[in-house]
Amino acid sequence: MEARTEISSLGEFGLIKRINQGIKTKLPDTIKGIGDDAAVVDLGTEFGLLSSDMLLEGVHFDLTFFPLKHLGYKAIAINVSDIAAMNGIPHQVTVNLALSNRFSVEAIDELYEGMKTACADYNVDLVGGDTSSSRSGLLISVSVFGRVKKDLITYRNTAKANDILCVTGDLGGAYLGLQLLEREKQVFLANPNMQPELEGKDYVIQRQLRPEARMDVIYELAEAGVLPTAMIDISDGLASDLLHLCAQSGVGAIVFEERLPIDDQTYLAATELNLSPMTAALNGGEDYELLFTVPQDAYELIKNNPKISVIGYVTDNKEEIALHTKGDNRVPLTAQGWS
Ligand code: ADP
Ligand code: MG
Repeated sequence: MEARTEISSLGEFGLIKRINQGIKTKLPDTIKGIGDDAAVVDLGTEFGLLSSDMLLEGVHFDLTFFPLKHLGYKAIAINVSDIAAMNGIPHQVTVNLALSNRFSVEAIDELYEGMKTACADYNVDLVGGDTSSSRSGLLISVSVFGRVKKDLITYRNTAKANDILCVTGDLGGAYLGLQLLEREKQVFLANPNMQPELEGKDYVIQRQLRPEARMDVIYELAEAGVLPTAMIDISDGLASDLLHLCAQSGVGAIVFEERLPIDDQTYLAATELNLSPMTAALNGGEDYELLFTVPQDAYELIKNNPKISVIGYVTDNKEEIALHTKGDNRVPLTAQGWS
């Protein structure tokens, strides 16, 4: 009998690693295959960037609280985010849909309204896709094509010891927004007459339902003349994505707990739900902020940008990727993909 290995024994990252080991690229214009936020192809004067991300009902979203318009927006934004992470500019997207007869024409109109708004916001053209029926639920898979000047591309594997570690925006909000929405869903299921208690929580809810790709910061860094040494977008959580960046660069990093950017609403939601705001910031995921490294002499150029926080530094000790706590302890950071 043939051996059967459970996927859960490898986990998400182990599985991708295994797929990668079996694939060798052969074309001279394939510059980078599996392993970064986007694949890189040589277009002559520029690099082209290719990436896809899918959203699956019941896994990535729950339509009892996820408006289709926002879902359409998010499907585009999370793809644009991977282009941003390469320091690129998104140009075209294609959209693959699988849907069951549970969805009406009006529902699909709503979904596309959101996608069109995102395409307008990020200046991207929707140029094609594929549509199929599905036996259960909705699947949206988007692919994006972007461009970047060859000398401006930022990979994950080029962070250097002594670089400054930076993050955009704030962290943990999307995760706590999701926890609040799930709590309200349970309350509603138990008693449909209850009104949702989401007042004053608009920011964290929005972080979950309508994330933005940080193209704004990409343009601001370019304007300031700052080229990150390495960059990744934070889709799985700061800890997990920092571990990818460090492992691929062969470096270590120290993150200061007191430097982690956490919004007041994130703190409040965490307190209310009895969750740790720190854990949400480190492991929550879905914030779609950018994590990047810059040489020390770039500090003067970024320190006044309110969208950027300096959270730590890169070291040459690849054995240590740790959180320096407020109590002056060093705690190793650990990753969590899906299992
Ligand atoms: P991101 O979070 O930036 O979207 P992922 O963690 O999903 O990146 O993927 C990491 C790398 O693995 C990327 O280069 C991606 O293209 C590649 N990858 C993911 N799934 C597959 C797959 N099923 N087959 C081939 N490559 C994959
Ligand atoms: Mg990414």
